[in-house]
Amino acid sequence: MGDDHRTDKSWRQATRLVRGGTERSHFAETSEGIYMTSGYVYATAEEAEQAFKGDLNRFIYSRYANPTVAMFEKRLAMLEGADLCMGTASGMAAVFASLACMLNAGDRVVASRALFGSCHYIVSELLPCYGIETVLLDGTDLAQWEEALSRPTACVFLETPSNPTLEIIDIKAVADLSHAAGAKLVVDNVFASPILQRPFDFGADIVVYSATKHIDGQGRAMGGAILTNDEDYFENQLKTFLRHTGPSLSPFNAWILLKGLETLDLRVRQHAVNARAVAEFASSLKGIDRVIYPGLPSHPQYELAAAQMDDAGNIVSFDIEGGRDGAFRFLNALRLIDISNNLGDAKSLTTHPATTTHQRFAPEVRAEMGIGDGLVRLSVGLEDVEDIKEDLAQAVAAAAG
Ligand SMILES: *Cc1c(COP(=O)(O)O)cnc(C)c1O
Repeated sequence: MGDDHRTDKSWRQATRLVRGGTERSHFAETSEGIYMTSGYVYATAEEAEQAFKGDLNRFIYSRYANPTVAMFEKRLAMLEGADLCMGTASGMAAVFASLACMLNAGDRVVASRALFGSCHYIVSELLPCYGIETVLLDGTDLAQWEEALSRPTACVFLETPSNPTLEIIDIKAVADLSHAAGAKLVVDNVFASPILQRPFDFGADIVVYSATKHIDGQGRAMGGAILTNDEDYFENQLKTFLRHTGPSLSPFNAWILLKGLETLDLRVRQHAVNARAVAEFASSLKGIDRVIYPGLPSHPQYELAAAQMDDAGNIVSFDIEGGRDGAFRFLNALRLIDISNNLGDAKSLTTHPATTTHQRFAPEVRAEMGIGDGLVRLSVGLEDVEDIKEDLAQAVAAAAG
């Protein structure tokens, strides 16, 4: 587990992504090894005792740590500029563990309302079962944050850009208010990816990812990660919680995600170039009522997005005329873009949130989240952007009938 002499903190980002965290075995392999092992052996009984006491820094059991998972964690931590990282089996495992490990009955959590469906469930339904008070608010309205954080609070959770309505929240302003209320700020940075937004620069305490999305980026593996510079949180809360509840990342999946990181920068930047072209094109199409993309001047938080993001990402949402029926006609007419609720994939994927990712919410709750029946979320892929635009145009025309 020792620092590999091949990993250098002065490396620039592209170098970190290709080489960060690599630990070669005595076989001197070029590509990182996949250590598919659940356990590790000890030379002596004394060594096992020392390892369990924490006096010896070594691998004990893959529910705790694993060499391939450790390479992934180290590479992602170097990219994010964080000291500490733990991989998890999925993005939701990361979100849940990041919160549950530090909360107690009687604590208060404040979160933005525009959340991925499963994140919304955790905050609004699950945490209250354990006696945790949760407050949901409009994350784009700083006055609501000020009001909610005028009382002592344990934790603040937000997504920016949010899924699927692409609301942008001022991370710096919310971080300052959170800290004044005694809260740790947890940012779900999935939509931006570590390439386009660095929440630690704006005061976030904990950053969580679904690595299933852009970090894999090719639709193969589930995974997640939790990053922080808060050693007390990491050592005394998070690590203990993960070790004993077991949402560990498979070494095989960690290896796929590790290889995904090598091309993450190239992919995410091209995704954003394609998405911008698609968003501009969609804005010109008859049959689309409203295009939501943080990189368009028509977006309500366009300036904030430009200030805190490097680029606007690869998700474009839009309202198709004709509500649910219009949206379904559009989806069913697509020839290239696939209907799928995943995102951040090299393949362009689209979903109808009201009947998929956000189906379980009552229509009023969806309306509060800004998810109408005509809303479609498009994850713009890496195909030739002209092919994506052509498919969009013919499907929008078909939907209008
Ligand atoms: C997909 C997603 C998650 C959950 O990640 P999984 O890997 O699917 O568990 C959490 N937050 C956001 C914003 C997501 O898009």
